[in-house]
Amino acid sequence: MRNVQPRSILTMNRGSGTLKAALYEVSEAPRLALTIYVERTGTPDARLRIKNAESATLLDAAIGNSETNADLEAIFTWLSEQGHASELMAAGHRLVHGGPRYTAPQRITEELLAELHKLAPLDPDHTPEAIRGIRFLTQLFPELPQVACFDTAFHGSLPTVARMYALPRKFYEEGVRRYGFHGLSCEYIVRELQATEGDLAGGRVIVLHLGSGSSMTAIRNGKSVDTSMGFTPLEGLVMGTRSGDVDPGAILYLQGHGHASPEGMDTLLNKQSGLLGVSGISADVRDLLQKEASDSRAAEAIELFCYRARKYVGAYAAALGGLDMLVFSAGIGENSPVIRERICEGLQFLGVKLDHSLNHKNAASISDPHSRVKVRVIHTDEDSVIVQHVLAVLGGEKA
Ligand code: ADP
Repeated sequence: MRNVQPRSILTMNRGSGTLKAALYEVSEAPRLALTIYVERTGTPDARLRIKNAESATLLDAAIGNSETNADLEAIFTWLSEQGHASELMAAGHRLVHGGPRYTAPQRITEELLAELHKLAPLDPDHTPEAIRGIRFLTQLFPELPQVACFDTAFHGSLPTVARMYALPRKFYEEGVRRYGFHGLSCEYIVRELQATEGDLAGGRVIVLHLGSGSSMTAIRNGKSVDTSMGFTPLEGLVMGTRSGDVDPGAILYLQGHGHASPEGMDTLLNKQSGLLGVSGISADVRDLLQKEASDSRAAEAIELFCYRARKYVGAYAAALGGLDMLVFSAGIGENSPVIRERICEGLQFLGVKLDHSLNHKNAASISDPHSRVKVRVIHTDEDSVIVQHVLAVLGGEKA
């Protein structure tokens, strides 16, 4: 008999250049029903793909315009046409920054939205977009419970030494400290390791989350002990359009010599740097790999990306006092054998040895059987973590 109660949870997850959403049926254990993916969102090339749980494509269409909310309108038009919109019981959103206050998922209220607005300057890339998505849903479904899940929460375990900048102490107390991001992804990976790796899951693990935004996290006993993103998602690795680490003195120099206003600096560091800035060609690793043989700027951008990542693995192996496992994840980490190979080249001294053939198959485990360090590729699934959090928050309210 058909259950007429609303029984689906929608998750919404905005990356730097993508919008990922998913619909889970939760009449019993949560079960993925649809994955929704907008590539190159906000550009004229934006494309919406919707697949069912068996990965069969249900829709693959150009959105055809880059206007505000064009992606959300395309998604909800399709969901309504297919009868899914009336089944919604709740929505969960990935919020990149929880600031010092939010270390656990929260039910979304007007008060919370007001607090999130205050946090938006800390994460100009995603938070305003996420708030826009929440408001869009509130307009369509005013009664729908919505839950915010924070990417900073997993790093609540960072020791003070990994949290501090060497700035005057009063700034730490004002909240200028290292928060870390990609926490929902790390949470999923830790759960997956606990389910598949036994004791090794409690060992010394480094997670390389390499997507449009990239970060690295050192994990011991399932807890974050250091992470490459800091006060904002700008610190650390080279990313698609973000610089990662830069000497603050270089930034002062650029500002002092009239190269950029504070707003211009924000655009420069967040939108015009990284792979795009160094190559002058593209923020997408795929484009750069295609051009690297003929264009030295593309080759240098890729080399810098891999070198910075390798350097951080060395640093985090030191922070952990050794290394048991490396995990590659997200768009680049899951799909690019060449990038994985180049990062791991030179890490033999730590006991990292890849199996060439397994690596090129994007296998779940890509290390050589004799490698001291196990190397895994894990398809991260922030959405399933969000669904668990939504159920826990709603369950907690009923209890
Ligand atoms: P986001 O940070 O937006 O969530 P993703 O984790 O989805 O990003 O990663 C998107 C990035 O993954 C793209 O910008 C692209 O550079 C990269 N990517 C996707 N597929 C491949 C591939 N087959 N080879 C190399 N890079 C890829």
